Amino acid sequence: MLGRKQPRPSANGAIEKPPSKTRRAGATFRLIVSFMLLVIVAFLAVEGWRTWRDYHAAFAAARDSVTNLARATAQHAEDAIRQVDILTAALGERVEGDGIHTINVPRIHRLLVQQSKIMPQLHGLFIYGADGQWIVTDKEVTPETANNADRDYFEYHRTHTDRGVRIGEVVRSRSTDDLIIPISRRLNYPDGSFAGVLLGTIKVSYFVDYYGDFKIDDKGALVLAMRSGTILVRRPFIASVVGKSLANSEIFKGYLPNSNEGIAEVKAVVDDTERLYAYRALTTYPLVVEAGLSRDSITAAWRRDLLKTGWVLLCLIGVLGTFGLIVLNQLRQRMVMERELRHAHQAMRDMALTDSLTGLGNRRRLDTALIDELRLARRQGSWLSLIMLDVDYFKRYNDRYGHAGGDDCLSAVGTAIQQAVKRPGDLAVRYGGEEFTVLLPNTDSAGAKQVTEDILQTIRALDIEHLEHPLGRVTASAGITSCQPSVEDVTPAALLKAADTQLYTAKQQGRNRWCCADEPVC
Ligand code: GH3
Ligand code: MG
Ligand code: MG
Repeated sequence: MLGRKQPRPSANGAIEKPPSKTRRAGATFRLIVSFMLLVIVAFLAVEGWRTWRDYHAAFAAARDSVTNLARATAQHAEDAIRQVDILTAALGERVEGDGIHTINVPRIHRLLVQQSKIMPQLHGLFIYGADGQWIVTDKEVTPETANNADRDYFEYHRTHTDRGVRIGEVVRSRSTDDLIIPISRRLNYPDGSFAGVLLGTIKVSYFVDYYGDFKIDDKGALVLAMRSGTILVRRPFIASVVGKSLANSEIFKGYLPNSNEGIAEVKAVVDDTERLYAYRALTTYPLVVEAGLSRDSITAAWRRDLLKTGWVLLCLIGVLGTFGLIVLNQLRQRMVMERELRHAHQAMRDMALTDSLTGLGNRRRLDTALIDELRLARRQGSWLSLIMLDVDYFKRYNDRYGHAGGDDCLSAVGTAIQQAVKRPGDLAVRYGGEEFTVLLPNTDSAGAKQVTEDILQTIRALDIEHLEHPLGRVTASAGITSCQPSVEDVTPAALLKAADTQLYTAKQQGRNRWCCADEPVC
């Protein structure tokens, strides 16, 4: 056979059409699934990107917050201390000028009272002699035995000649029992020898109150510490933390040596909490402030939002998935229905074109095939042969073996013909009664003779008893016609008639044989 474009009959004569509807439905199915996946992936991508962006925005905002907090607390500490610094510097000048043992105590006391009133951060102002005795303070009562020679700052100034202000670690006041930060400077005699100490004390509560005003959550932290690492004030305020050292903290060890201000995400040594810290060393005094927001509080709003978004997304995917499943289910049902319908349709078509007794194609099948094959052979310039077969003395067979026996015989002959026809493109049909036709595309006269011989031999080989036949068994006669539709104008009717004529000749010549018209059909 030459290559053919049009649908081919199957072995039983039925036409198999490509299942294009099934393919289309399958493609729609895949399209819907892909679309749903695409929508879900797009949702996830957009929300993922938004979440990622919000997370970074939360940290960027937190960085700004802690930087501002650190700047504000540093400025506040610097201002508070500078005022005491300036005041003690002026007082020192005055006391040294007056002479420490000849100062007018009531007048200086009034001055100290006046000064401490106008500076809210001040806890007290004190002047100590070289032996540590209280000479004059801003307090109304000076204890007789009060002596501060044992205090750190006193010992420092006694042994150091520098005239700068010194900020000491937090101590508890002997006059009021408050926690205070001592700001002190040395007093000298005119010869430069140690004359005593001038002390201004700042209330720790002044800083605690100020830090308390900032709107940060419980896990946020504000710290004022000495450059050495000793904590002076901290929010949240716990008295036991005051005086602890931050010297081994990451900020003091790793960051401050390199930069006086910056941002670091570290774990606090005081409470083991991860925080984003802004740190800042004061410019004038050896102090450091740290402002920190915990990772939890930074991401709290973001996490709440993430949870909400997650739920919404989950619901959306759920609705979309359910909707998609319903659509897909309907589509699948439709596909199943269409397939069943197609099968039923195909079965009906097959039935309409099939002979029920032999299972071969029927005359209607031949009529269609004959038109198609003639057209094809004309186009391709190929040969087309037609064989017409007729069972010999079949009327007698019926008469002898009954109609049912005749049917069995016809069925066996049909099977024999189908067996002898080898090529997939060949078509054997029951033309009617005890007549059969075989259409052989792309087969010339010699090929058709060979096929006919095979068919007749196969029928003989069935060896069906036929005692009303001179040979005693069932035989058939055949008429063959071959044509080349591209060179001669052949019609289906002419072809059938030519084969029938040859069949008639074969019958005339004694049956159990074939005849072939080697001349043109028309
Ligand atoms: P010839 O050798 O010249 O062909 O003689 P014949 O008897 O075969 O030819 P004829 O056309 O006279 O007889 C055909 C018979 O086939 C007539 C009918 O009884 C029988 N026949 C036709 N169709 C069927 C069928 O479906 N079943 C059965 N059992 N017999 C059928
Ligand atoms: Mg007949
Ligand atoms: Mg017959």
